Amino acid sequence: MGKIFLAGGAGYIGSHTALSLLRSGYEIVTADNYSNSSPEALNRVMELSGKTFKTYEADMTDTSAIAEIFSENEIDAVIHFAGLKAVGESVEKPLEYYRCNLDATLSLLEMMRKYSVKNIIFSSSATVYGGENPSPYREDMSRSACTNPYGWTKFMSEQIIEDTVKAEKNISAILLRYFNPVGADESGMIGEDPLGIPNNLMPCICQTAVGRREKLTIFGRDYDTPDGTCRRDYIHVSDLADGHVKALDYMLGKNSDGKIFEIFNLGTGVPYSVTEIVQTFERVNNIKLNYSYGERRAGDLPECFAEPSRANEVLSWTAKKSLEDMCRDSWNWQSKNPQGYNK
Ligand code: NAD
Ligand code: UDP
Repeated sequence: MGKIFLAGGAGYIGSHTALSLLRSGYEIVTADNYSNSSPEALNRVMELSGKTFKTYEADMTDTSAIAEIFSENEIDAVIHFAGLKAVGESVEKPLEYYRCNLDATLSLLEMMRKYSVKNIIFSSSATVYGGENPSPYREDMSRSACTNPYGWTKFMSEQIIEDTVKAEKNISAILLRYFNPVGADESGMIGEDPLGIPNNLMPCICQTAVGRREKLTIFGRDYDTPDGTCRRDYIHVSDLADGHVKALDYMLGKNSDGKIFEIFNLGTGVPYSVTEIVQTFERVNNIKLNYSYGERRAGDLPECFAEPSRANEVLSWTAKKSLEDMCRDSWNWQSKNPQGYNK
């Protein structure tokens, strides 16, 4: 089996994917600038898997750092997780977001071409479907206008990768469009540890439950949905990680007889409302959350969920874990690590 390079591999999804890859027999190398993560996550991946691997502290916008990694390791495929991801912050700091996220994509592709690395899997997002397509989203729908700079960096990175695959006879790509990753490895040793104030629902719930924040506000209850709160396609991060293993198996298996460009949604196809998430979290963990309903959050769509059948048909991948698993594992991680990796 080949060696896989995880750019941004110390982050939430990267660390879980690292663990799944190691458990599936892949060798890995990681690089991260630790701007939103901790090297401790990778120590724990080594502990959980019983395997070691090389880790680089490096910025993926820096071509010379990538060149060093590619010249020191025989890389079969890159999984590109590296980037900034806070939607609200991207509105405040568009230049930082475009610089980081687009430069990382460009630098990785340039160095792949130079060092003959043939395969890339890109962490994309359901956000590229924009506000103009109705849920459930299918991969053959076109990308549509995004509502924030973060979303545009995913839109543009997808286009850059697609054009590169068209032009370069030796480069293949898979775009994975994630829906809403939540949960943690069932050991509770690795999980989501956002720096600063979180935006996403599950970290906000967990930090409220653990006493790091006073209360949770549910944004809007007057949407045109069954209970008036927004509905999303939450997916357990371990299922998501397995989706990367399946995508790699497919890509490396296929590449001997030709290059590929493929897009897959990674979601469950089943939407849950914010109120359902909060109530399920309370029930499975036997916790009373301090929450109330507030104003709508600007830019939120009432519904966003996947048509996930393509990944099932082509990759034989399907999400297996339930909403109960997601809520239980998120809390297991947070309660064992109240301050995240900082103890
Ligand atoms: P994360 O912030 O935990 O992981 C991203 C990692 O990249 C972090 O470890 C960070 O330190 C690193 N990084 C950032 N800029 C870098 C740079 N210039 N050079 C090197 N490393 C850099 O986020 P995540 O939730 O694990 O997301 C991984 C990827 O998936 C991101 O590209 C994100 O946009 C995308 N994504 C995430 C979600 C989600 O809800 N979590 C949804 C859709 C897509
Ligand atoms: N949400 C909420 N309170 C919070 C954080 C999020 O009600 O403190 C809602 C948000 O309005 C959205 C859903 O939870 O309807 C998921 O939000 P998140 O930011 O996690 O994901 P995204 O909106 O990007 O799908």
